[in-house]
Amino acid sequence: MTVNISFFKKELKKWYKENHRSFTWRSTTDPWKILLIETLSQQTQLERANDFYKRFIDRYPTPQKMANDSKKEVLKLWSGLGYNNRAIRLHETSKILAKTSFKELYPNFSVLPGVGSYTNSALLSFAYGKKVIAVDTNIKRIFQRFFKVQEKDIDNFIKKNQNLLLRGFDSRDFNQALMDLGSTVCKSKQPKCFSCPLEENCNKFITENNKNQQKFEGSFRQKRGLVLKILLSREKVTKQMIEEELKLNNEVAGEVLDSLVRDGLIEFSRNKFIVINDN
Ligand code: SF4
Repeated sequence: MTVNISFFKKELKKWYKENHRSFTWRSTTDPWKILLIETLSQQTQLERANDFYKRFIDRYPTPQKMANDSKKEVLKLWSGLGYNNRAIRLHETSKILAKTSFKELYPNFSVLPGVGSYTNSALLSFAYGKKVIAVDTNIKRIFQRFFKVQEKDIDNFIKKNQNLLLRGFDSRDFNQALMDLGSTVCKSKQPKCFSCPLEENCNKFITENNKNQQKFEGSFRQKRGLVLKILLSREKVTKQMIEEELKLNNEVAGEVLDSLVRDGLIEFSRNKFIVINDN
């Protein structure tokens, strides 16, 4: 496991350096800005949330500014993003923050409306540089797939390995790297394993690749490929030569050759099989 964690961190760091998505708020340590983007990006794609973030931060650069505005105005600015309850909770939060600072609430921001465990960790990591993993669905999915952890065991896994995972890795970069990898490569549906930096040691990828390989070994598809390879490398080949070379019985060799003839890849001419050459 330790070896896998080292590999995971090394490759993730390298990948993030070259592939990270750039957003202005990614370099801020202002907790209000972080809370804003985290609230806006819940159930919303980051690129879309970023457009709304620009409007919000322009109008409400501090919680006080939002607290002084009406709920109606906040909702108006929120319009088009959906899940309006988030806007209402954000407005309530701004009213609390207008009286009680982030500093006073640190490290427990969960007392703010709409701030759950993920947003609390995101604030600790992004605003205060604390060594915590902001566990969201992306991060859980990648851990489950790469380290082969069952869904029911994922929280324990993270708790047990958090220190090791974050050792020598800025927690802000770590969390953002997994966020980016989860949304662009290790997606919930159809992950792009062949462009993933973790592919070489990913449990999900290795298991599925082995299964596919096993399915292929001895399959009709594999036999067709082997026959075609022989025919491409020689001038003329008889059915008997195929049977002997690939240790196929008469019936199977016949089926494979017939299927290649039907597909127009080879033809039978003067008692020999040859690959059809269109030129
Ligand atoms: S190899 Fe595939 S499944 Fe594994 S982490 Fe990468 S994208 Fe996800």
